Amino acid sequence: MGEAVRAAETAGADALHIDVMDGHFVPNISFGPAWVAAVRRRTQLPLDIHLMIAQPEKYLETFAKAGGSTLVFHAEATNRPTDLIRSAHDLKVGVGVAIKPETPVAQVEPILNRVDELIVMSVHPGFSGQKFIPEALPKVAEARAVIDREGLSVELSVDGGVTVETARPAVAAGATFLVCGNSVFVGGNVSENLAELRRATELGRRDRSEVR
Ligand code: ZN
Repeated sequence: MGEAVRAAETAGADALHIDVMDGHFVPNISFGPAWVAAVRRRTQLPLDIHLMIAQPEKYLETFAKAGGSTLVFHAEATNRPTDLIRSAHDLKVGVGVAIKPETPVAQVEPILNRVDELIVMSVHPGFSGQKFIPEALPKVAEARAVIDREGLSVELSVDGGVTVETARPAVAAGATFLVCGNSVFVGGNVSENLAELRRATELGRRDRSEVR
């Protein structure tokens, strides 16, 4: 893990995104707070903590104390998003909301003015290495339109199956933050992989300005 963190940092990653899975909200188990704390000890990079867990309200403080910079809960995991947002503010950490592929942007629209990040999932959460779901693109565009219309400063992230091929249309649709896992680490040349991904985002940005 230390090696992977160092490689991503050296290659110029903007942040590290950690998928926390509880085997309940998603059918898989991944990292917990001890892992987040261990990553925190090895890097100064912002840590984006993606809480794919049920009852996120129970764990915000734990992950804040472990060193999370932004805590992202799932819209589908709570009926009281504003309470969660308030708790995160009290803990002095950033807060984000994530939506699964089948969840409409409209469901989180009312809270977008109170979060720092919106993650549009482009795979079904739970396992890495899945293929990008193209239906995520119109959702990204829809979220982009809302964010621009309301003048919000929300990071718009796409998470799942982001590769050199899918990074470009994701950015063209309005994403400002790409979560890349396999596409960064595949083959072992993290710097080269990240550089290639950045070139793809640059093309996406160009596509976007042409559309506008
Ligand atoms: Zn994630």
